[in-house]
Amino acid sequence: MATYHIETYGCTSNRGESRQIERKLRDAGHYRVDTPEKADVAILNTCTVVEKTERNMLRRAEELEAETADLIVTGCMALAQGDEFGDIDAQVLHWEDVPTAVTNGECPTTTPDAEPVLDGVVGILPIARGCMSNCSYCITKFATGRVDSPPVAENVEKARALVHAGAKELRITGQDTGVYGWDTGERKLPELLDRICDIDGEFRVRLGMANPGGVHGIHEELADVFAENEKLYNFIHAPVQSGSDDVLEDMRRQHRVEKFKDIVDAFDERLDHWTLSTDFIVGFPTEDEADHELSMELLAEVRPEKINVTRFSKRPGTDAADMKGLGGTIKKERSKAMTDLKMDICREVYGSMVGETREVLVVEQGTGDSVKCRDEAYRQVIVTDATEHDIDPGDMLDVTITDSETVYCFGEPV
Ligand code: SF4
Repeated sequence: MATYHIETYGCTSNRGESRQIERKLRDAGHYRVDTPEKADVAILNTCTVVEKTERNMLRRAEELEAETADLIVTGCMALAQGDEFGDIDAQVLHWEDVPTAVTNGECPTTTPDAEPVLDGVVGILPIARGCMSNCSYCITKFATGRVDSPPVAENVEKARALVHAGAKELRITGQDTGVYGWDTGERKLPELLDRICDIDGEFRVRLGMANPGGVHGIHEELADVFAENEKLYNFIHAPVQSGSDDVLEDMRRQHRVEKFKDIVDAFDERLDHWTLSTDFIVGFPTEDEADHELSMELLAEVRPEKINVTRFSKRPGTDAADMKGLGGTIKKERSKAMTDLKMDICREVYGSMVGETREVLVVEQGTGDSVKCRDEAYRQVIVTDATEHDIDPGDMLDVTITDSETVYCFGEPV
């Protein structure tokens, strides 16, 4: 759990993105403070309308760099002219990647009384709270403890209620969905997903973060469930965090690199079009140059379709906070190298989709007259001119992919 300070400049669209960032941070257990000095992380959501604004953005970034432990720069100027921030010790990120970077590799926090929520056509279903790990960099675990899993039937009834209330996309969340049921002696995630997909109605299901340590052992059964159920988005988020077993040991992660690869292989064998989302922490205190190279090699070998790169920062009270840290320049260089590779991979992924026809679910309104959609592998597809095509959130339609950006593509209704 981190404290954050956020500043937003520019148009209403930028303010909307900041609201989304804040909502995700709040849902993950982080909280806002009123000054950058009190924050673990400062977020600068930039605008780049005129030259004077650019100078102001750079000056503000320099001030925040001096006032806060970590700085993230996002928004229009970060996307269009990210190199301008090259002399500032900041992570330059797309809006969508900000919440994960703030979490510093920790799992999302599910609050004790978390109940299902319907937000537009998206139903959010927390299935359990807590984890089964003791990661050395994590502060979240102190607040949440070991996994506490309600029975499968109880979660299925909550899912049914969300579908009856109008949910078209069910998001299965939890601190670590992979360990659902471990406290009862049974690993129940495959059964839960199977039974949720049996609920009558047209909807899709997105499985939230599941650590590789929890998934390994049920990975074959889980991949079977994905292959058998069209309602499940072909998407898993399994944060590997490092390509070095030595670093994973120092992080006290419950998996090693081979286990992560076993999971990827199981899904590769069963699914043609799917998305592997994973996270890397760059610059962990014991990560040396060879460890970093192993992470780069793993990324280049596995080529996940969605990648979150987080620069390590210390959280008070954790064992990793007592380790001698790496210098900011090393962390910055490694994070840049990994981010460059990530961008190449993502560009290739979305570029290769151009010309394909995909069935998508319209999930929410985008900017202007556009809508944000997800295909069966949870890849983001933007359809512009929604009014002209008479498209609303909740609709399913076929689109031809006409163009792509680094982390999303554009579709035209067929
Ligand atoms: S799995 Fe690790 S990072 Fe996640 S909450 Fe548990 S201890 Fe923290």
